[in-house]
Amino acid sequence: MEIKRILFATDFSEGSSNALSYAVDIAKQYGAKLFFVHVIYDVAKTAGWYVPHVSIDEMYKDIEKSAKAELEKSFIEEMRGFKGIEHVVLKGTPYEEICRFAEDNKIDIIVLGTHGRKGIDRMIFGSTAEQVVRHAPCPVLSVRLPKHSK
Ligand code: AMP
Repeated sequence: MEIKRILFATDFSEGSSNALSYAVDIAKQYGAKLFFVHVIYDVAKTAGWYVPHVSIDEMYKDIEKSAKAELEKSFIEEMRGFKGIEHVVLKGTPYEEICRFAEDNKIDIIVLGTHGRKGIDRMIFGSTAEQVVRHAPCPVLSVRLPKHSK
């Protein structure tokens, strides 16, 4: 088995933070590159009606900037000295973008949490973990929160 490229999908929730140490450990053991991926929901797609482009483009620039900053803040001790990390912000439906990125970038394994945020987006899009497992072009490691923290 060869693991050279790992995709870690994060929505900055407790569920995904809990999965991070698995992604980092695997990356270190295999000397793999680790992609930190966050997907911004595409509001225009969700709304299903016309949204003026100028305002929406401006809004996305801001969200993208904050998402990048948030990704860079996701640091755990195990990452100290580890250089092979790339931060990626995508826009669209999370499971579709995660699977497309995995396909386009020859990802060997996807690591994510079994639980994410529980907001309106979850109601609209359903479970990202479930959909990624169903559609991913590679193996998926979905990490549950430890029992005591549920
Ligand atoms: P969910 O199935 O939606 O509760 O989310 C499960 C896991 O999918 C989270 O713990 C994250 O690892 C990942 N995930 C959910 N939403 C996103 C997103 N917008 N971008 C990247 N990863 C996500």
